[in-house]
This record gives sequence, structure tokens and C-alpha cells, in this order.
Amino acid sequence: MARRKENICSFCGRPMPEMFSGLDNDALICHECIEAGHKMIAAMPQKAAGKSDTLSLSTLPTPQEIKDFLDLYVIGQDEAKRFLSVAVYNHYKRVLQEISNDDVEIEKSNILLVGSTGTGKTLLARTIAKMLKVPFAIGDATALTQAGYVGEDVESLLVRLLQDADYDVQKAQRGIVFIDEIDKIARKSENVSITRDVSGEGVQQSLLKMLEGSIVNVPPQGGRKHPEQELIHVDTKNILFICGGAFDGIERKISQRLNTQTVGFAAQQQAAQVDKNNLLQYIAPQDLKSYGLIPEIIGRLPVLTYLQPLNKEALLNILTQPKNALTKQYKKLMAMDGVSLSFEDDALEFIVDKALEYKLGARGLRGLMETIMTDLMFELPSKKKKQGAQQSFTITRQYAEQKLSKDRLVQLKNAV
Ligand code: ADP
Repeated sequence: MARRKENICSFCGRPMPEMFSGLDNDALICHECIEAGHKMIAAMPQKAAGKSDTLSLSTLPTPQEIKDFLDLYVIGQDEAKRFLSVAVYNHYKRVLQEISNDDVEIEKSNILLVGSTGTGKTLLARTIAKMLKVPFAIGDATALTQAGYVGEDVESLLVRLLQDADYDVQKAQRGIVFIDEIDKIARKSENVSITRDVSGEGVQQSLLKMLEGSIVNVPPQGGRKHPEQELIHVDTKNILFICGGAFDGIERKISQRLNTQTVGFAAQQQAAQVDKNNLLQYIAPQDLKSYGLIPEIIGRLPVLTYLQPLNKEALLNILTQPKNALTKQYKKLMAMDGVSLSFEDDALEFIVDKALEYKLGARGLRGLMETIMTDLMFELPSKKKKQGAQQSFTITRQYAEQKLSKDRLVQLKNAV
């Protein structure tokens, strides 16, 4: 493409310092017109843009099929998987339905996942998007509070979704957005005056419209909007929002509610059956209100479910069972160097014990494994070159103990 200077743009007629010409005739185009053209193509309906959407009512997986797929990647969390599968199935049925003449309008089923950090909330949302091959974006609600400019950041969630959809607006409009740490925008106390705590509530208000469904003007490259910028209009009506949060301390609210409900003999019997070690399973919308979510937000997240804390058995399973389990990944890496890698059960148990002892959770497992494996991954390839291929290597408990020094464990704890 040739560049000429000091010319008139054949499209907008303005003189511009820099012009581009790649055409056979003498037509010139300025960079602003190139950008405008690019955005127009990006905003074209998908059919016109030549892209096809694979999701249809006949190919939509059933809730059982969705759960079976989740089982391949996510350990445990059966209750959450069942709720999610049904909600996602209903959501896409609603999106894909033929326009009917009756008055029954299926409402949107955005989802709220409550559970400690590192229990699989993001993984569940990401896996569903992967299964359905729909665009997916993750955003953090805490970032929304920090920006002084409320409303702008809320749109940034959609910028990421558009990017994941290669700027195919139609496709993005059927995507999934995961908003993490939604509990961090709760107002501090149920009865606090608005003037004292506007930050959390302000962001909740700005999220409301987007969750329910509205046309949002999105700056294509993200960042601040400016007046001359072309904006992409994104309709959020059919975007599925999955929110996640740890809601630390919400057990107290649940327990308070359960206690105040326990009046009368039958209620007393019921109270005796309450499993005090896992109060999260009784979570109800009113607990979210007591925690500081405004009722309107709670109403727009009608599917509420919880994730269990991960115990030793679950962590062991995470290391070995999912389709892309960590042990499988290292075995694959080693196999590429011609080495057959195996892990002693005792070594895996040691790793999980350390993850629990240092409260590293599932997220910390990767760091632990990386620490144990790094020396091996550094040395084996050159050994292979010098002396021919080493055939096999077993990670024993003793080897794992040797590599995981106390200092390193403390470092990992600080990083999680
Ligand atoms: P959260 O969103 O709840 O904070 P993530 O979904 O981001 O947690 O989990 C962090 C990492 O821990 C995941 O990438 C995954 O490797 C692992 N993990 C957590 N929970 C599970 C689970 N239930 N099954 C399999 N892996 C898990």
C-alpha cells in the first residue's frame, strides 16, 4: 500500500496529512475513513458478514448433556452443575425460540454462584461457554468500583465479549459474561445511608440495566468514550450473565435467618436437621439482601446456587481426573521429550496436604506442581541430548518433599 502526503480523501473529502492508496484508480483514503469502514463491517449482522452461528434449538444440548460435559472438567459441585445446566438450557431456549404469538414471555435467567474463592466458579462458566462455543468474557466487579467513572467500566465487560467474538456483534449478543467478586460491591450495611456508601451501590445500579437487557454503546477498543468515536451498539437482552462471589461471612446471615425462622415445635425439629458445617447450602435471596446487594440486583440474578469447599478427596481428584488435569498436562509435556512420567499416590497426597495446610486451595495446586516439576523439566531435555533418551521418571513423595521447601510454600501462599 503506497502512502502519499498532503492529499484529499476520496471518501470524506477532507485534506489529511497522511493518505493511503491501494487501489488501481487514483482514489485515496484517510486513516479515519479506514477506521470507520472497519467498524461498520464489524457491526454488520453476522449473515452479511459471512459468519454463521452454530447454536440452534436442534443442536442445543440438554441439561443432562451440559452437566456431563461439566463433569469432564469440573470436580464435584453437583448442585451448582445441575442449577447451571438447567439455567443455561432455559436461557438458550429463550434466545433461540421462534417468535410466538402468545403472551408468555420467558424471563432471563442470569445466575449467581456463591462459594469460596478457588472452588470452580469461573471454571464452570468458562466450561459452559466452551461447550456451547459462544463468546465468553470475564470481568471483575472490584475493578468497576475503582474507576471514578461508573458506567464506562461496566461497558468494558462488553468490550471483552466483542473481542472474543471477533467483533461479530450478533455472536457477542449471545455470549456469556462472568462477573467475579460481585460480593465486593455490596454496600457495607443494609440500612446505611446512601451518602455514606455510594461506591458499591452505584456500581450495582449501573449493572442493573445491563443484566436485565438494554442497548449499551460500547467503544470498540475499550477505554473512555470520546465524542467523535463510532460506538458499537450491543443489546444485552440475550447475553447470559453469570456472577460469582465468595460472600465471606454470609454464613452468619444465613444462620441468623434460620434461627429467627425457628419458631414452634415443627420448626425446632427442622432446626435440629440443619447442617451447621455447610450453611451455604441454605442460601436464599434474603441473605444476599442482608449482605448488601440491592433487591433489584438480586431480582436480576434469579438462579442462585452455591459451591462446596474443596476437601482432600476433591483436590486429589482435581490433580488427576479432569480432561486437562495437571498430572495429565505434565505427562504430555514429558512424553514429548520421550519420557514416560508417573506420580506415586503418596506424592500426590503430600501435594494436596500442603495445599490444605497452607490454604492454597485448588488454585495453588498449579504452583505446587510447577515447583516440583521445574528442575526435572529443565534437566531432562539436555540429558536426553547427551546420553540418549531417559525412558521414565516417577515423582515419589520423597522427591516432592525435597523440592517443596518451606520458604517456597510460604512464597506460594503469599501469591495466592
Ligand atoms: P473461583 O472462580 O471459584 O475463584 P476458579 O474457577 O478460578 O475459582 O478455580 C481456580 C482453578 O482451580 C481452576 O482453574 C482449576 O484449575 C482449579 N479448580 C477449582 N475448582 C475446581 C473444581 N471443582 N474442579 C476442577 N478444578 C478446579
